[in-house]
Amino acid sequence: MLKKNQIENISEKSLVIAVLLLFVSCLEIKKESSPPKPNIIVFLVDDMGWQDTSLSFWDKETPFNKLYHTPNMERLAKEGMKFTQAYATPVCTPTRVSLMTGMNAARHRVTNWTSQKDKIHGMEKNHATLEIPEWNMNGLSPVAGDPHAVYATTLPKLLQKAGYQTIFIGKAHFGARGTIGENPLNLGFDINIGGTGAGQPGSYLGTDNYGNGIKRLKPWAVPNLKDYYGKDIFLSEALTLETIKSMDNALADKKPFFLYMAHYALHTPIMADKRYLKKYTDMGLDPIEAKYATLIEGMDKSLGDIMDHLKEKGIDKNTIILFMSDNGGLSAVARGGKKHTHNKPLSSGKGSVHEGGIREPMIVKWPGKVKPNSTTNQLVIIEDFFPTILEMAEISDYKTVQKTDGRSFLPVLNGNITADNKRSLFWHYPNEWGPSGPGIGASSTVRKDDWKLIYYHDDESFELFNLKDDIGEQNNLVSSNPQKAKELAIVLSDYLKKVNAQMPKHKKTGIKVAYPINALNN
Ligand code: CA
Repeated sequence: MLKKNQIENISEKSLVIAVLLLFVSCLEIKKESSPPKPNIIVFLVDDMGWQDTSLSFWDKETPFNKLYHTPNMERLAKEGMKFTQAYATPVCTPTRVSLMTGMNAARHRVTNWTSQKDKIHGMEKNHATLEIPEWNMNGLSPVAGDPHAVYATTLPKLLQKAGYQTIFIGKAHFGARGTIGENPLNLGFDINIGGTGAGQPGSYLGTDNYGNGIKRLKPWAVPNLKDYYGKDIFLSEALTLETIKSMDNALADKKPFFLYMAHYALHTPIMADKRYLKKYTDMGLDPIEAKYATLIEGMDKSLGDIMDHLKEKGIDKNTIILFMSDNGGLSAVARGGKKHTHNKPLSSGKGSVHEGGIREPMIVKWPGKVKPNSTTNQLVIIEDFFPTILEMAEISDYKTVQKTDGRSFLPVLNGNITADNKRSLFWHYPNEWGPSGPGIGASSTVRKDDWKLIYYHDDESFELFNLKDDIGEQNNLVSSNPQKAKELAIVLSDYLKKVNAQMPKHKKTGIKVAYPINALNN
């Protein structure tokens, strides 16, 4: 028989054990309930204009909003925050390199779209009046010392190091063909479906094998899609199916994922996504414009499919979606209807530093963090994605080999600031795009508050606009407001000097294009 004090002793011991067990289980619960890192999706559309959607990014609905059909963008905006003044650069590669590195184009010097290794574009070499500087025509490189390339620590590399599964789907165009940077696998991505140095697909059609095996389309053939060859599956759909597979694989590996879903749509060749064509031809649209509208709707369906899948898998609450385009809608060539009008009320389009070329449709959804159905007028630019995404992933002690320019917009998403637009944004394009039109040509630009100053290198001339009063950039105020022009020319010149921006030379004199403030004083 046990004595009384023995019994007490046992009960005391049991109590201690019970308390200990409770404590440990509490710790376990705490460990389990600490939220996992969020999955992060960058949904990047190619060449999508600010008006290529049924979702209004302005203070009123436009005829384009009524024409196009993007119900899933509308749904995303209802669940997240819409940015009405989000910017990229006027063409593909500079935007993509800024996103990957956090650097402004003036600093990374990949100022134009990349093509072939060590080759400057013919239209740049043969420019009538300007000697184009030796920009980083090879694009982004993960290796130091590559000629004509910017060496940088990339966003996916930092996420990969922090335990993220890094998935690349779609169009890369980070580096010229034949360089190490053309392959996303060399830039910190674990998986690459479809990405090369090409800036467009050979074909959107599965029945064309997306350009594979067709000699004239070889440079633009989209790789890694063999399962879809010969099938009537549009490229946007094939990439979406691959995206869903890749997300499921990451889930099976129990890893948070960073998905960079970069559609080839809406880039040329403007081909019809037959699933949607009848609706637009029945509306009596120009045949090219009807096809363009189908590219938009197919891209939007992809967004919806991804959102649906996240919900099905129960991970929608812990997945951030950032929707963005890499430059404005094409308008100077290859479109139906009148040139430079496809982004109205904005002036011009892709290739231009007028708003039509650089203002983008941007939406961010982060359940529990970003207020649903909210809108911000905060100015943001593409290099801001870099620090923002790292902050979202709670990566703070990172080091980069490059100096960065981007600023995190997380405080805006959290609702901590409504809009802080005292900061200046910069664009630098000492290059030649090809077509001509409003805002197209070698130039440097600054945006501050409602004001925007454009400095054209060729004739050292200026445009000054007040975007609040004149979103269509019709009234050049340089002569009527010389004070504002001067103020912005100083800000722009100081920045160009600070980052040692490359300037072209005048072919006639061999003299470098002057800094804006010097040109204004002449
Ligand atoms: Ca583009």
